Amino acid sequence: MPERRELRNCRLETLVIHGGWRPDPATGSPLPPVAQTGSFAYESADELESVFAGRAPGYVYSRIANPTVSALESRITALEGGAGALAAASGMNVISTLAITLCGAGGQIVSSRAIFGGTYSLFARTLAHLGMETVFVDARDPAAVAAAIGERCRMVFVETISNPAMEVPDLSALATVARTAGVPLVVDSTVTTPYLIRPGELGAALAVHSTSKFINGHGTAIGGILVDCGNFDWGAGRHPHLEEFTRRAGQQGLLAALRQRYWRDLGGCQAPLNAFLQGAGLDTLAVRMERHCANAAALALFLNGHPAVRRVYYPGLPDSPYHDAAARQFGGKFGSILSFELAGPEQCFRLINALRLALNLANLGEARTLVIHPASTICRDFSEAEKEAIGANPRLVRVCTGLEHPDDILEDFAQALRRI
Ligand SMILES: *Cc1c(COP(=O)(O)O)cnc(C)c1O
Repeated sequence: MPERRELRNCRLETLVIHGGWRPDPATGSPLPPVAQTGSFAYESADELESVFAGRAPGYVYSRIANPTVSALESRITALEGGAGALAAASGMNVISTLAITLCGAGGQIVSSRAIFGGTYSLFARTLAHLGMETVFVDARDPAAVAAAIGERCRMVFVETISNPAMEVPDLSALATVARTAGVPLVVDSTVTTPYLIRPGELGAALAVHSTSKFINGHGTAIGGILVDCGNFDWGAGRHPHLEEFTRRAGQQGLLAALRQRYWRDLGGCQAPLNAFLQGAGLDTLAVRMERHCANAAALALFLNGHPAVRRVYYPGLPDSPYHDAAARQFGGKFGSILSFELAGPEQCFRLINALRLALNLANLGEARTLVIHPASTICRDFSEAEKEAIGANPRLVRVCTGLEHPDDILEDFAQALRRI
């Protein structure tokens, strides 16, 4: 595509709309049309044979690839500046399939202990059941991560901003530690999106996103995506089962292994309609993230000065221990998730019940401001020690600011705080 060369110089606000996709040549549709089909017909047996053999491009069956899903993959690849991407049924499907593919039974994961509850459960319980061991570490300490990497380590996993603890690790330092050991650094950038950070630029091998959150932006569908940042040699060393794929596909070796074996066999495809919804949301990612982040900064400042609030966790506050790391890595923006402590769980419940605009629900990155009490909901299955490690203490309320006028959000919290 000749237009791609010009696009390379575009700003992210433009790339988010135009990158990786041009209006559908068959229909002129500006957004990728929904290819709502399970399979694809060919005129001749020879043609279909060529596609199966990999000699000709083409779609066969939507569990393996679908045009609407491919368009989303190509758009997010362009945004991340990566080598390629694979969209899947959910964020959890991306992380679980990736871990199974990279590690196999007996493999080790070194993971930050401050991660999304679903990912913690996957690593600590489900993958342990399948014979994979996860060592949880304090990812704020690159030396501790280096020390935890064992002979059987196949991936290091961190999040850009953990929640509800809102920790921000030094990704460049972690990328160096992982690379020195020959292990890929996997960065879950769900809460930052490519608008705040492109993990590949800091040396991460892979970026993963739950597109159910800010990329979709409206809470209308579940989805996930894996991006190969294009800087890790899958043919070297720690992943001998990927060597054959890498010999054939080069930098696309991991994605080829997923598409031609592991992810294909596990069956975690993204539905075409869901890919359409994520793609429609992606168009407005830049303007939404501006407003999301500005609203969070305003609410964090307000809560920080409120007498009923014991403590506010938000990397954008100047006294946050993560302010410098976040400012350096996220281009002066700090995301739209914050959490804060009240006197106890009763006050948290009363606050949530008194809010009029903010919705009480278990998602992030929607148009509406969202609140939840993590300890009694998304983290309720965890032991006290696990809750402590993840940062879900019972006095904590998590907020993800939406796109409303900031004064209305502040007024909503002000009136609710009067009634706790
Ligand atoms: C939501 C989320 C996930 C899981 O994604 P789903 O699409 O819900 O499966 C993974 N990581 C983070 C940081 C998340 O917020």
